[in-house]
Amino acid sequence: MKDRSVDASVSEENSSAVPGYLSEIFCSVQGEGIYVGVTQIFLRLAGCSFCCGYCDTREAAVRPREYVVYGMDDTNSVDGGAADIPDTPGGQTTFLNPVTAPGLSAYLEKSVSSIPGLHSLSVTGGEPLEQSDFLEAFLPLFRPSDLPVYLETNGLHEAAAAKIAPLVDIVSMDIKLPSLCLPDGGTVGKRADASTFGKDIFDIYSRVIPVFARKDFFVKVVIDDDFDPGEFEHAVELVARTDRSIPFVIQPVTSSRLIGCRPPTSEKLMYARGIAAAALEDVKVIPQCHKLLGIR
Ligand code: SF4
Repeated sequence: MKDRSVDASVSEENSSAVPGYLSEIFCSVQGEGIYVGVTQIFLRLAGCSFCCGYCDTREAAVRPREYVVYGMDDTNSVDGGAADIPDTPGGQTTFLNPVTAPGLSAYLEKSVSSIPGLHSLSVTGGEPLEQSDFLEAFLPLFRPSDLPVYLETNGLHEAAAAKIAPLVDIVSMDIKLPSLCLPDGGTVGKRADASTFGKDIFDIYSRVIPVFARKDFFVKVVIDDDFDPGEFEHAVELVARTDRSIPFVIQPVTSSRLIGCRPPTSEKLMYARGIAAAALEDVKVIPQCHKLLGIR
């Protein structure tokens, strides 16, 4: 565990005032990246303003009225600050958004003690850094459990990254290749390019990578069969510029309902691996294992 400092000035009273919007909470096995296979509680925050063509959590792109808890003990004890909705079949319970930081922290800490072999709390999305004020209130309260906090992020929110990095232990950051994203706020079937977003996302990554590099950190890049080698090389170069030993994961795309891309052939995959391995010391090719296993 690396430097995880806490802002002791965040009082419980203040933290109650910041609403948090969730999509779901569940316990499962991490299916991506270098921590594949470990058991985690997944805290999926709602809302993401980006638009990856392969996104498999589009239902988490907006802030919904309700969130769902799957297969966890004591689901009735979640304090969402609002009335909950009666249990539904299939071991899931639906609650109303928003939640409070103290209520969520108290619930999760109780759950942590009832799950043997738990590795960490995965704070995922949607894009968690789009709710950085809530995370800034919640994470210091959750810290007493001493369970490592694992952040999954697209890395595109520079100020939020700097604010939240001290409060987490492990960071999994995607570098998004523009050509695998949708242009113009999500025109289905078309691909973006670096100029589409009105901002240079590689420029953002060049500043965010050094912020997260102080943590237990790895980078993940999703590619398809038509990935742009120039974009991929740019991503590799940004990581190498900060630290050649940062673990770098190439993840072949699994599903791509939105832009209709295909998984890379083995030749394309090995081509990408070769580009990365020429500049970096720790390159792995890891698919989405939870999809292979048919689990959440
Ligand atoms: S950043 Fe994540 S949640 Fe947002 S569109 Fe991309 S894959 Fe989906």
